[in-house]
Amino acid sequence: MKIRPYKLSQLAMGDFMLAGYSVAGEESVVVAPELDVVFDIGRCPREALAVNHLLLTHGHADHVAGLPYYFAQRDFQGIANGTALVPARLDRPLRELMSAWGRVEGHVPPHTFVPLRDGDEHAIRRGLLARAFKTRHCAGSLGYALVEVRRKLKPELADRTGPQLVELKKQGVEIENRIEVPLVAYLGDTAASNYADLPHVRDARALLVECTFFEPDHLDRARAGRHLHVVDLPAMLEGMNNERIIIIHVTRRTGVSAARKILRKALAADTLERVTFLMSSRHVGPE
Ligand SMILES: [Zn+2]
Repeated sequence: MKIRPYKLSQLAMGDFMLAGYSVAGEESVVVAPELDVVFDIGRCPREALAVNHLLLTHGHADHVAGLPYYFAQRDFQGIANGTALVPARLDRPLRELMSAWGRVEGHVPPHTFVPLRDGDEHAIRRGLLARAFKTRHCAGSLGYALVEVRRKLKPELADRTGPQLVELKKQGVEIENRIEVPLVAYLGDTAASNYADLPHVRDARALLVECTFFEPDHLDRARAGRHLHVVDLPAMLEGMNNERIIIIHVTRRTGVSAARKILRKALAADTLERVTFLMSSRHVGPE
């Protein structure tokens, strides 16, 4: 028996980090500790426990199985106020799951679910929001963008004094522009769609995109499971401005190095240089 050590991959994005594990059918979870968010929960790695917001994309076990453990373990460790943003149609079944879990374990761990639909937003903290958008995978499935919201004084008011600005504000004049800076977009599982039309996805600094299948004879599997095949990627990534494009959810049927070879032939050089595989050994740090 071969024992494979379990470690999260880590990617530095400057002022925040992405750490995760993602293999199709096995587990998908991506933690952004500085942003206080976990995209999907997979089997709930230890690193997810201290993070207060779970953003769940859909109900397949490889993405959601760790949910009761997340709330139960936080309760055990005395960590309060965990919130899961969930596709609206999963709100009720997930509540039922938690109460069934309570009958199994003896009590229901504290938990909060926020049901979301396409376009809904939830404040993660002051100046940071999660925006849900619909994906093409299963009924009600969602992706999420994390958007920083900054307020900047309107340029035409730059020469006003502090007291003048206070006076304008009192009069109900809007003195600031609202600026959105998308940080991360996570598509979850999805078939091809025109995501580049969504500014919060197109302009996110980091785009996490699944590409489950790479080999020509896996195209049928991709279509049947509503997943991306490498042949879909060139069109999917057209118009994307992301600084980093991180491929997740690759099948075990194709190793990362074989997938990388196929990808090199599929994408143009200027796209390719921004693309990396989450599960690449280069992102798994030394002990
Ligand atoms: Zn799925």
